[in-house]
Amino acid sequence: MFQSSGTSRGESPVSVIGAGIAGAWQALLFAQAGHQVTLHERSDDTMTLSTSHWAGGMLAPYCEAETSEPVINRLGLRSLDLWREHFPQTPFNGSLVVAHPRDRADFERFARLTSGHRRLDAAGMAELEPSLEGRFREGLFYPDEGHVEPRRVLPELHAALTAAGGTIQFDSDAHADQLDGIVIDCRGLAARDTQPSLRGVKGELILIETGEVELSRPVRLIHPRWPLYVIPRGHNRFMLGATSIEAEDTGVSVRSALELLGAAYAVHPAFAEARIVEFGSGLRPAFPDNLPRIAIDNQKIAVNGLYRHGFLLAPALAELTLSYVERGVIDNEVMQCA
Ligand SMILES: Cc1cc2nc3c(=O)[nH]c(=O)nc-3n(C[C@H](O)[C@H](O)[C@H](O)COP(=O)(O)OP(=O)(O)OC[C@H]3O[C@@H](n4cnc5c(N)ncnc54)[C@H](O)[C@@H]3O)c2cc1C
Repeated sequence: MFQSSGTSRGESPVSVIGAGIAGAWQALLFAQAGHQVTLHERSDDTMTLSTSHWAGGMLAPYCEAETSEPVINRLGLRSLDLWREHFPQTPFNGSLVVAHPRDRADFERFARLTSGHRRLDAAGMAELEPSLEGRFREGLFYPDEGHVEPRRVLPELHAALTAAGGTIQFDSDAHADQLDGIVIDCRGLAARDTQPSLRGVKGELILIETGEVELSRPVRLIHPRWPLYVIPRGHNRFMLGATSIEAEDTGVSVRSALELLGAAYAVHPAFAEARIVEFGSGLRPAFPDNLPRIAIDNQKIAVNGLYRHGFLLAPALAELTLSYVERGVIDNEVMQCA
């Protein structure tokens, strides 16, 4: 799979455009490897212009295998190692998949198409997540999966970059042609001017708050249309996500809100009393095949198409880009050279 082109990039400065999850990891690994890195971000440090701000942050290479190509699993597993290595505080409490009896066939299908899980009966479920006692007869537990809180981990990545000697410039609308040295374009959907086949896939979410339910890990509910889930955040908050719609507006429809809130209620009726904190949506940057791509054109490298796997894939993609720049290593599955 790997071949070496033997190129060496020397000591050029490295500019990364876009401080979402893709750009933040690229900048971090290059800075830690000793490169002189500047990360440009057009948003302010709240990062509300990024898709990453709206994400679930699940690190779930096993569950995602239900609907994705093997390359997602390969890069995802490598990313888990990198999250562990660089952010040892990342929670790796696993994920839980549950279904109501009417969705049993889909539950079995999910079990068949994925690996890395063990089956739990009702008692096992209650032991793992006491709040779910008596709610489901069985579940699938994926012990090696993790999750991050995007709004906390993005600032942590930016701080780690600064600690490694890199610079981050917010409110900086950068253009690749005006930057010297190696330029890594991680603009997400905004890169359509140079990568016209990118499209946005809308994901809607709702943030709720209640002290009545406690969860230690993401819980996915088998659903005939969307992979719906409840992710615990700190301070009694839970993210309900996410729809997947071929649309590029950023509104939240009544239908989607009903489905998301219904999913939470189906996981635990106490969610009915929760307070709604926020409705939101983000546009996942995707190529037609929904696979990530590192496009290389001399000193310009574009990392994009992370689709529904940005948090899962960003560390491994950054490692691949670094290996290319330093040692000319090409990953034929992900890289395209001009
Ligand atoms: C609801 C939802 C749930 C999701 N859940 C998960 C999940 O659980 N796990 C997972 O792995 N993935 C998840 N995803 C997918 C993930 O969010 C995306 O894959 C990821 O955010 C894409 O990251 P990115 O860095 O490529 O793009 P972005 O996060 O959009 O970052 C691009 C950045 O570039 C900046 N930019 C653009 N143009 C310029 C310019 N000219 N100069 C400077 N800066 C510029 C933008 O402001 C932006 O901050 C989810 C997505 C959604 C919408």
